[in-house]
Amino acid sequence: MRLFGKIVLSIPIVGLWADDYITPFALLVLLTILWGACVAMDLSRSSRRTPIYTIFSFMFLTGWVPFGLFIALVGVLSFWEACWAALAAASMGTAVWWLFSWVGYQTIKHQNHVVAWVAAGGHYFWDTLPIWNPDSDLVKAGGFPEPHYTNFVPPREWIFQCPHCHVRLQHNPDVCWNCNYGADNDSTAYYQAHGGSPPPPPTQQPPPQQPQQPPGPPPGYAPIPRR
Ligand SMILES: [Zn+2]
Repeated sequence: MRLFGKIVLSIPIVGLWADDYITPFALLVLLTILWGACVAMDLSRSSRRTPIYTIFSFMFLTGWVPFGLFIALVGVLSFWEACWAALAAASMGTAVWWLFSWVGYQTIKHQNHVVAWVAAGGHYFWDTLPIWNPDSDLVKAGGFPEPHYTNFVPPREWIFQCPHCHVRLQHNPDVCWNCNYGADNDSTAYYQAHGGSPPPPPTQQPPPQQPQQPPGPPPGYAPIPRR
């Protein structure tokens, strides 16, 4: 997916060179900038999410299909002109849609579940796109890609996830039905998955001094007479 997105976005630049708009040297420079930017995104965005340049490359290809059909039928545009028109259409569509998403986000961004979602890496534009973002709802919500289930498939209502093997769980906390995570009180996998560090082990402190004897009767009471 990552390589695919980089290659697809390189196509319009190669077209500039193929149609003699730029020199081979300029082609190299532009491709280096594009691939450098993509690698920078790979490093910055959480690796379990589909990179945004790949999502954008899907939008670009979606635009290219009608434009490509248009040249095939009418013959007005050249192959590369259709390619650039599709890129421009995808860019403008992204800009307009992004603006609407941003305005919508401003109205809900202080709600608790939205704050938690953004803290888990959710993005109001890229993670709300309907068809071009192939991530599962779990990943969009900040979770991990699930493993391929062979025997038992957890029901949809199970919304928690094992931090070790990433299967869905019913309860939180829970002992994982797949890898038994949680059975031995070892939470290392949780902190590897979600960051942070485990709380320090409880220090050995002497228990607070308990009064050895219950307090005697307040002064002034008469002792119980013995028989
Ligand atoms: Zn597990």
